[in-house]
This record gives sequence, structure tokens and C-alpha cells, in this order.
Amino acid sequence: MTEANVKTKLKKEDLVQVISGKEKGKQGKIVRIERDKGRAIVQGVNMVKKAMKKKSQNDRGGIIEIEAPVRLCNMMIVCKKCGPTRLGYKLEGDAKKRVCRKCGEAL
Ligand SMILES: [Zn+2]
Repeated sequence: MTEANVKTKLKKEDLVQVISGKEKGKQGKIVRIERDKGRAIVQGVNMVKKAMKKKSQNDRGGIIEIEAPVRLCNMMIVCKKCGPTRLGYKLEGDAKKRVCRKCGEAL
């Protein structure tokens, strides 16, 4: 089964909540979407420790924490009013606007 080029309504800077897995319930903004892999980097979510190599004599190297990607199917956009919700679209003239499916608020 391939998940190449997953269709998603999510965009960079969207506030999302993780809905399954060990990071369930955590919220953060999307930093980067890797559409071809069906996943995204979410700020402060799914942190993993990574060893850094020394780059210079002044650099001590060591362990840093970075965000590991979260699968797009494991996250939902967060509506200010309703919390985690599904995205819908609303037509306004020629423009397609993303809205909350529950309350219709623009997202
Ligand atoms: Zn809403």
C-alpha cells in the first residue's frame, strides 16, 4: 500500500491536534508538510532526541531534540470554537474558503 501524494486540506501554519498514537491530544502548528510521504512536522509534537556531531572546536555537540513527522491521517485541524474538527469548504464568489464543518467558522 502506498501513501504517495496524500490529499490533504491541511496547510502550513495550521493548528492541529494529534488524534491517535503516543502523541494523542497534543497540539501544535504545522511547520512543514511532506505531502509525498503523507506526513507533516508539527511544532513541539513527536519530539525525538538526536545526537549532533561536533562541527567545530567550540561546538560541544551533544543531544538535541527535534520534531519527527506525524502522519497526516493522525491529525485534525483545531477550530477555535469546537476544538479538533474536520475541514470543509465554502464557496464565496469564486473563492473556496476552508471552514469548520461543525460551526462554519473560517479556518
Ligand atoms: Zn468550529
